[in-house]
Amino acid sequence: MADIAAPAYRVIPIIPVLKPGAMEGKGPFIASDKIQEAIGFPGQLVEDWHDRAIAKMGDLLGKYRSLKVYMDACVHCGACSDKCHYFIGTQDPKNMPVARQDLMRSVYRRYFTWPGKLFPWLVGARDLTREVLDEWHNYFHQCSECRRCSVFCPYGIDTAEVTMAAREILDSVGYGQKYSNEIIGKVHKIGNNLGLPAPALRDTLEGLEEDVKEATGIDVRFPMDVKGAEVLLITPSADFFAEPHIDSLIGYAKVFHATGTSWTLSSMSSEAANFGMFIGNYEQLRKIALRIRQAALELGVKRIVVGECGHAWRVAYSFWNTLSGVGDGADETDQFAMMLQKQLDHRYKQPMHICEFTWDMIGQGALSFDKEANDKHIITFHDSCNVARGSSMGGYPGGQFDIPRNIIKAVANNFVEMSPATTHERTFCCGGGGGVLTDDLLDLRVKGALPRMEVLQQVKDEHGVNFMACICAICKAQFTKVMPIYGFDRKMVGGVHQLVSNAIKLGAK
Ligand code: SF4
Ligand code: SF4
Repeated sequence: MADIAAPAYRVIPIIPVLKPGAMEGKGPFIASDKIQEAIGFPGQLVEDWHDRAIAKMGDLLGKYRSLKVYMDACVHCGACSDKCHYFIGTQDPKNMPVARQDLMRSVYRRYFTWPGKLFPWLVGARDLTREVLDEWHNYFHQCSECRRCSVFCPYGIDTAEVTMAAREILDSVGYGQKYSNEIIGKVHKIGNNLGLPAPALRDTLEGLEEDVKEATGIDVRFPMDVKGAEVLLITPSADFFAEPHIDSLIGYAKVFHATGTSWTLSSMSSEAANFGMFIGNYEQLRKIALRIRQAALELGVKRIVVGECGHAWRVAYSFWNTLSGVGDGADETDQFAMMLQKQLDHRYKQPMHICEFTWDMIGQGALSFDKEANDKHIITFHDSCNVARGSSMGGYPGGQFDIPRNIIKAVANNFVEMSPATTHERTFCCGGGGGVLTDDLLDLRVKGALPRMEVLQQVKDEHGVNFMACICAICKAQFTKVMPIYGFDRKMVGGVHQLVSNAIKLGAK
């Protein structure tokens, strides 16, 4: 930490001066054999890794047509090259999205195209050597799969999907990432990323009930494992203990209380996050999602609501239907998916984001607020990348941008937008998404936060902004860590439901 410093702000717009090799050897810790084997991957780099990696690549190219298109379609126009926060912050040319893709594309050409097989030097084709594999491990873990680059690509090439494929290949040969794979193991074993067992979770929730009672004089419940509750809340486990996450959990509980909605958490499935997406592994993605289905079936709930977590909402919104049967398009041959479909109340969106829930309730006049309670804040909103570019809300295009902002404006008087070049679908990643929220990548995280910090500084200087709201557990954790390095107070970041919690009127209504 001592030798990590924030890079100087740029004069915008500027294309970074190249620093070749700046981030070489700065990749993440490698997963141990214990971590790897716990989730079914080879413990160490296998002897025949080369052949297995090429076979896996062929398998993925056959399975995911998009990956093959992405390998073939790039015309190297360069439109994406300066759009990645990690390239902007690190200045390493291999962190340009097109260069990151080319790490895989060059190998693809060598083994899967005729020109590459016959004249590799003519088409930029490379053998998959141990050096290339190390380069993959290094640079494919310097991508947060945020998809900002794809917004600017005329062909819509999605570097995130290339990164996921590379990580999947690396795992299949025993060369995984410690952080993500360790966390996936904890979810399978205990039910959440933190490895927080049920009794500890129950204690935490009871403590929260006492805290809220002390602060408001009202008995707001934080129920767990309540059979027959209307709503199952699936939220990131950071909400149970981390700051400022916990303040949003209090906000959700107050919304449920004020609207008279019966709800519950599940001790068996106490995690919204799904790191299976980060490592690009369908089996892990599904296995984690199925815990939620099991909890919903066992508790007999009618609705499933997802808390403030960016990638979790993307997984829920985009993939839960085919993974677990929550939402339209469930597999009719899957009896448990069909049981769940029968059980859920289809008058409501399945799944529903907590912001959709709260905004619906505001629309129905079921909530009232004392907006002045947030007057000490001049608020801006950071769009989290997976919500902005991988999901929607409210059943209409752009709802994921409007609804959180609408809630903020309903509960607070002072709202300021950041530069439109850095919000909505053009938002910058916080720098900690996609499985890089680990201290072994802190240097990358600090540098990757640069574009967001620059724009936050602008609105702070021009409008006195002192609070940046977001709806992602990773954004909250990343910003609280890196903002002090940029000279901001870590308390400047918080959740939308933290603001709701401050202003909501509890009691008779
Ligand atoms: S981090 Fe985001 S912008 Fe950068 S290459 Fe990955 S998906 Fe593209
Ligand atoms: S914008 Fe698209 S086509 Fe152009 S270099 Fe980037 S990935 Fe290739």
